[in-house]
Amino acid sequence: MSNKKNIILLGPPGAGKGTQAVKIAEKYNIPQISTGDILRRAAAAGTNLGKEAKKFMDRGDLVPDEVVVGLVDERLMDTDCKDGYILDGFPRTVEQAKALDLILDEKGDGITYVVSIDVDEDELIERLTGRRTCRKCGKMYHVAFEPPKSEGKCDKCDGELYQRDDDKKETITARLRVYNEKTEPLIEYFSKKGLKRSVHGSGGIDEIFSKITEVLEES
Ligand code: ADP
Ligand code: ADP
Ligand code: ZN
Repeated sequence: MSNKKNIILLGPPGAGKGTQAVKIAEKYNIPQISTGDILRRAAAAGTNLGKEAKKFMDRGDLVPDEVVVGLVDERLMDTDCKDGYILDGFPRTVEQAKALDLILDEKGDGITYVVSIDVDEDELIERLTGRRTCRKCGKMYHVAFEPPKSEGKCDKCDGELYQRDDDKKETITARLRVYNEKTEPLIEYFSKKGLKRSVHGSGGIDEIFSKITEVLEES
């Protein structure tokens, strides 16, 4: 099991979890499981769960643990997860981490890597306010750091780029506060289990990616 890539990407909003998760997924051919993406898709589809979740997301609050845990539990049953996966944005509370332990225990499985990406708050705010997302394929851009070739359009699929409702300044402040209160304690939680590795998340995307793969090549 030690070689298996069951990865958790930990870090504040804007740390680059999604950006790096896509690259890890490609390199190791394992799925990226982003609870934020799953919830946004449900909200866009207008399901009851999605509508309910959107109320929390728009305030910058966390969606209740039992909802998110249920979604992840279901997703982990898919066959593409059998050789590994990247959890991006989950767990976000100690309760979620404990629930994940139970889910994996039952399968005789477990997390093998926890990579925590650290970025200063000023830089997080800069990244989040400039983030743009493709409405069609979900690819991320940044107006200054990672601009599309043609303004407002996705390089990959020509989809429209939009700013997430929760990437507005007021909501960003709330999300960072929630991170500090509820998610940051997870760093200690995984440190105690001897799983946590930290990577500095400022610098170029490729530079950070190579630091992450270094960690993932350690056994
Ligand atoms: P970011 O990439 O900026 O950290 P995400 O896309 O991961 O943001 O999450 C967006 C929002 O979706 C969160 O602010 C929260 O409301 C909700 N969300 C995502 N993942 C979780 C989770 N594991 N637990 C609770 N809420 C979540
Ligand atoms: P998270 O999923 O942790 O919230 P994202 O991967 O969505 O973070 O990145 C947030 C924003 O910062 C995006 O607009 C992305 O293009 C940009 N970004 C990601 N990594 C870097 C980096 N190393 N340097 C500059 N900008 C970055
Ligand atoms: Zn696209």
